[in-house]
Amino acid sequence: MNVDELRQIEDEIRNCIKCPLHKNRTNTVPGEGSTNPEIMFIGEAPGRQEDLQGRPFVGRAGEYLTYLISTLGLRREDVYITNVVKCRPPNNRDPTEEEIDKCLPYLRRQIELLKPKIIVALGRHAAKTLARESGISFKGITRERGKIMKVKIYGLNISLVYTYHPAAALYNPNLKNIIEGDFNKIKELLKEGHAKKRRSGTLDDFL
Ligand code: URA
Repeated sequence: MNVDELRQIEDEIRNCIKCPLHKNRTNTVPGEGSTNPEIMFIGEAPGRQEDLQGRPFVGRAGEYLTYLISTLGLRREDVYITNVVKCRPPNNRDPTEEEIDKCLPYLRRQIELLKPKIIVALGRHAAKTLARESGISFKGITRERGKIMKVKIYGLNISLVYTYHPAAALYNPNLKNIIEGDFNKIKELLKEGHAKKRRSGTLDDFL
């Protein structure tokens, strides 16, 4: 992994004026975490706290995501966390197609560089975008969450999993069991990957 290249992408994001979201931002939120992650978590767009701190998932939804990551036996520093859109949309509205399209090249370069084995899309917007980039159809988060999908994205073979956005569980506690069940599946997937790696001695066999 070329750390300089990762820092270069972050610098470009910090100076980005490709869409109108730059006008209202306090900080850009490029992403953070391991430079050699097995798992990458991709959310929708920064919220208020994220905009203020320049870091992904540091508000209430972030607290819950940090807990969910701990259920995998991992810390935030062991994974990479980012969003499809790197600046906060006003009043946390959904990002527009145009904002997503303008921002997507940054996510693409992050994925190409970090080469995760597993990508977890948090919420409908991230799921839809990653489905499109993987060339698979998207039939809705409710129908497809929790499925481990072997896909090719930007030339990389990965396992793609969608789950509900952690913020959704704050409004609807019934979703917690579902999200935590999805994380259990991700934990199993990690275990299988590590067992394969031990047998063959190579991470290429992770999947
Ligand atoms: N919601 C997101 O989708 N991303 C964040 O970084 C925070 C909240």
